[in-house]
Parts: sequence; structure tokens; C-alpha cells
Amino acid sequence: MGGQANLGEVIAIRNLMWGLSDAMCKSPDPWENGAVQPSMLYGMAYRTFMPMFYPRIKEIAEQVVASGLVYVNSNAADFKSSEIRPYLDKYVRGSNGIEAIDRIKIMKLLWDAVGSEFGGRHELYERNYAGNNEQIKFENLAVAEMSGLTDVLEGFAETCMSEYDLDGWTMPGFINPGPDVSLFGRDWQ
Ligand SMILES: Cc1cc2nc3c(=O)[nH]c(=O)nc-3n(C[C@H](O)[C@H](O)[C@H](O)COP(=O)(O)OP(=O)(O)OC[C@H]3O[C@@H](n4cnc5c(N)ncnc54)[C@H](O)[C@@H]3O)c2cc1C
Repeated sequence: MGGQANLGEVIAIRNLMWGLSDAMCKSPDPWENGAVQPSMLYGMAYRTFMPMFYPRIKEIAEQVVASGLVYVNSNAADFKSSEIRPYLDKYVRGSNGIEAIDRIKIMKLLWDAVGSEFGGRHELYERNYAGNNEQIKFENLAVAEMSGLTDVLEGFAETCMSEYDLDGWTMPGFINPGPDVSLFGRDWQ
């Protein structure tokens, strides 16, 4: 159950990231002469969360697959050794009839992605390539202010607050609770 929940989280992250890249393309910003550019707001949201999600997926792989990532033979030549091959087939096989050679091929591919020198550098890359961890966040605020998004959000809050005062709701259609209000035939005071 825990492993399945973790895999579900990975799938959700994958879908969220694809959702953002879809949004960048399918809701683009107008540019010059009818041309468009990928949506800056969605692109910046991607840039903010991708450095958090990449290490999270790596962490899940390391927790769920665990020692399976290193409990492998060191070289493909071992499979060609008539002395070693029977041990590999017996002790490094997978569940559900998966043979050792297929299991190890998967583990080594995953290790290349998350644990090797390449995997380590790639995580560093995903964390930093688009800017340091603070810059990629506060630029969202700066762009929201420049684009007028913060005005829209502040307007939303102002609208909410304009709908009530010290005496209750100021807009039609809402009922102020009070001693004369009876709901479902019962006095709720
Ligand atoms: C693997 C890898 C690949 C990369 N690829 C590219 C690439 O293809 N193209 C490209 O343009 N760049 C690339 N970069 C560079 C990347 O953009 C920078 O690493 C990133 O912008 C962070 O800058 P920095 O490493 O100088 O760290 P810093 O900016 O020094 O940040 C380190 C820490 O110091 C803090 N800090 C920074 N300035 C201040 C300040 N004034 N006051 C207080 N705290 C501060 C930061 O918040 C952070 O916590 C790559 C980096 C890596 C690691």
C-alpha cells in the first residue's frame, strides 16, 4: 500500500508537470505580429515547483526501491560467467517470474537516473539551472505585480470584505443569523 501510494504521487507529479507545459502551450501570451509565447505565469510556476518535485521523485525511488538499487552485479560480464550466472539467476531474480537479467537491467537504468554521478549532477541541475531557490520564487511575486495579477487578487479580497460589515451581510440573498431567524422550523439560537 505504501509503495503504491508513493507511485501514485509520482504519477500525480508527472501529470501536474505535463498540465503546466500543456497550459504554457495552449494558453500562450500574445506577442508581436500575431505570434505567441509560452505563458509566462505558468512557466514560472513550473520553474518554481520542478526543483522541489525532481528531488521528491528521486527520494521516492530511493525509499521504495531501496537496496534493490545496489544489490546488483557490477558488470554484464558476470552473466556470461558459467560460474557466477547460476547464483545471479537464483539470488537476484525478481518477483512474479522476472528473471535476474531483466530485474538488474531495470535497477541499473534507475540507478543511472537517480544514484550515479550523472544522477547526482542531474539533481543539482534540476534544483538550480533556472536560478537559485529563492530567486525562482520571488520572481513570481514581481511578475504578478507587473502583470496586474496582484491587483486582481487584492480586488477579490476587497469584494469579499465589501459583502459584510459589523451588522452582517450587506448583499441581497444572504440571511443574517439572529433571534428572529428560524431554519428548518427550529430556533438555532
Ligand atoms: C548542473 C547545473 C547546470 C546549470 N546549467 C545552466 C545553464 O544551462 N544555463 C544557465 O544560464 N545557468 C546554468 N546553471 C547555473 C544556475 O543558473 C545557477 O547555479 C543558479 O542561478 C544559482 O546560482 P549560483 O550557483 O551562483 O548560486 P547563488 O546565487 O550563489 O545561490 C546560492 C545560495 O545563496 C543565496 N543567495 C544568492 N544571492 C544572495 C544574496 N545577494 N544575498 C543573500 N543570499 C543570496 C541563494 O538564495 C542560495 O541559497 C547551472 C547550474 C548547475 C548547478
